[in-house]
Amino acid sequence: MQDKEIALKGIPASPGVIMGKAFMVGSEQYVIMKRHLADEEIPHEVKRFKDSLTRTKAEILDIKKKMENEIGAEEAQIFSAHLLVIEDSMLMDEVLSKLKKDRLSVEYVFQDVLKKYIKIFSDIDDEYLRERISDINDVGKRILKNLIGAKEKSLSTISEKVIVISYDLSPSDTAIMHKKNVIGFATDIGGRTSHTAIMAKSLEIPAVVGLEDVTSKVKEGDEVIVDGTHGTVVINPTAKTIKKYTLEKKRYAVREKYLKELKGLPCETLDKRKIMLSANIEFPMEVPSVLAHGAHGIGLYRTEFIYMNRKDLPSEEEQFEAYSTVAKKMKTQPVIVRTLDLGGDKFLSQFALPEEMNPFMGWRAIRFCLARPDVFKVQLRAILRASAYGKLKLMYPMISGIQELKAANDILEDVKASLKKDSISFDENIEVGAMIEIPSAALTSDVLAGEADFFSIGTNDLIQYVVAVDRVNEKIAYLYDPAHPGVLRLIKQIIDSGHAAGIWVGMCGEMAGDVTMTLVLLGMGLDEFSVSPIAISEVKKIVRSVTFEQAKEIAAKALTFSTGEEVQKFCIDALKKAVPDLAEGLL
Ligand code: PEP
Ligand code: MG
Repeated sequence: MQDKEIALKGIPASPGVIMGKAFMVGSEQYVIMKRHLADEEIPHEVKRFKDSLTRTKAEILDIKKKMENEIGAEEAQIFSAHLLVIEDSMLMDEVLSKLKKDRLSVEYVFQDVLKKYIKIFSDIDDEYLRERISDINDVGKRILKNLIGAKEKSLSTISEKVIVISYDLSPSDTAIMHKKNVIGFATDIGGRTSHTAIMAKSLEIPAVVGLEDVTSKVKEGDEVIVDGTHGTVVINPTAKTIKKYTLEKKRYAVREKYLKELKGLPCETLDKRKIMLSANIEFPMEVPSVLAHGAHGIGLYRTEFIYMNRKDLPSEEEQFEAYSTVAKKMKTQPVIVRTLDLGGDKFLSQFALPEEMNPFMGWRAIRFCLARPDVFKVQLRAILRASAYGKLKLMYPMISGIQELKAANDILEDVKASLKKDSISFDENIEVGAMIEIPSAALTSDVLAGEADFFSIGTNDLIQYVVAVDRVNEKIAYLYDPAHPGVLRLIKQIIDSGHAAGIWVGMCGEMAGDVTMTLVLLGMGLDEFSVSPIAISEVKKIVRSVTFEQAKEIAAKALTFSTGEEVQKFCIDALKKAVPDLAEGLL
């Protein structure tokens, strides 16, 4: 009997889908004996330690050189960080003095000191520093291996195509991976900014990190799927899952093909209607991927992530640093910074928020910000200051009516006045928009348009409120339907009232990247699509395949159906005609 299928969710580290056999790495632990030393043995232990450092340093320099030649100088910089660990005299002095004081074998003392260092770094409230633990671990393991005289389990000797499964893959493991044979990897730990993630992207191997317990779920030789685009790993997939991922793999290849084919071409219809094509991000480090996928700007920068997983609030300076980094990197291309949207499924540890029955309809987003102007003002100041360094726009989430929009704008004016008073420069003409993601806002969008420079439709929330389906409840997920006629009518109303008032209308919810809906949205007159970077080339391809007139006809027809199912079928047929290879396998 086949083992049960298990699907695990982790952090997408490097895009692409791959299937293959699991190869377990790094589970081997060195057995370190606690041995007491006689006085005369101490000089010999000191020498052994110093020799192992010299050997480790030589190995790292060697890998660094190999990496420079095979991958690039920038990636090889990781090993400069490793050299710094070896040269850290505090760590090494501590080993030597403890060795002399405790008179225990040097492996044992070294491992003890290393554990202490790792504990100190784990407790630091800084993601970047925490992720440097893997550097210390990597170097530490290498020193131990040299002290013991153990043989390295070399990934470069793998003779068949495998997916590497490991607790953590150190940069040196990754560097020696033989690209042809390691076709993907998955690890228990690691974050988006971990070196392993950075290296996986350079090697163009699909990878998922931060899976927590993948090493305990996978056995050597198990069939595994790594979906590095969405951060999923499936162990022992069923035939149905294999079919799904085979399709996903094809889709990925199609996207890559479009990306190359459309590079540098504008996002416009055959009759030259220009569409703004933007990307959604959560972290400044995603900007290179946004640019690589050919986005024209950032249509949604979700800022709440700066506030999460920490005990204190981010300072104005810290936020300014993040927003201005994005602004500078995007140069003249626009970046829409969305103000804090906590609540719903995103919680902050520093506010002991009361548990709510309906968190998605609770004290979240702009409601929280208006109740806590002290917190809101700090963010607005940081965004405005950063606006002097690029083309920033600002938008408020979860606006339900005109009073909220006015109240938020009043606070913004206060902050602008205080910056002027302090002679701090900012973009005085910064565009300010409202997210339209609550039905009452959609239905009064004509009123809101008078107070906003643009609208961005947040379909993730809008749909859940329109059809009354909690967006995270699996049981009723079948009712969460972007093609529902009620949803389409509301979207049309928002676009029309925005245009009637002379403002542009974009969409930053997931629906904007749903290829089955692109033609309808285009035909309804949507001015901007803000999608995840990987969906950019598909949307561009679709837009470039039709005239605006054709899209308008498709939208008008789509609005005549009475069920979402009929709308879906019609939209897929329309897509099949416009871009056949994208529609393949969609229904
Ligand atoms: C949305 O609701 O569509 C949206 C983009 O915001 P979030 O997913 O962050 O709620
Ligand atoms: Mg939302």
